[in-house]
Amino acid sequence: MTAGRETRSDTTPPADRILPGGDGLGGEFYAQAAQTGVLHLQRCDDCATWRHPPRVLCAACGSSRWSWQPTAGRGRVFTWTITHRATDPAFSEHLPYAILVVELDEGPRVVGNLLNLVPSELRLDLPVRVVLDHRSDTVALVDFAPE
Ligand SMILES: [Zn+2]
Repeated sequence: MTAGRETRSDTTPPADRILPGGDGLGGEFYAQAAQTGVLHLQRCDDCATWRHPPRVLCAACGSSRWSWQPTAGRGRVFTWTITHRATDPAFSEHLPYAILVVELDEGPRVVGNLLNLVPSELRLDLPVRVVLDHRSDTVALVDFAPE
């Protein structure tokens, strides 16, 4: 690793990111964020348990009744991986970059890119906030920046 390359701290995610598909509950997850400007997760209408990734039934009570609910958009770094070698050339100029697993204040863990911090400065439990990367009327990607 070249120390001079580990300086990415801009607030602009790569424009050439691969976008997720728009079908099913996964598509609804990205569309909710795109259309409201707020990260939404499923929440059970019977026992109020939050869940992610999206699924049909509540793992806590088995209910099929749920709704998309807005999150506070805050959490803490649970774990991460740093990519130093791009398998897709579209990402080669963004190396190294970190992908985080963040435990939201609501409980579920969500995956997203790191913004505004060099990957070598990551630490467990670092407080972060959600930054949505609006790409279309049906897709907003989830990123995280330090509080
Ligand atoms: Zn439930």
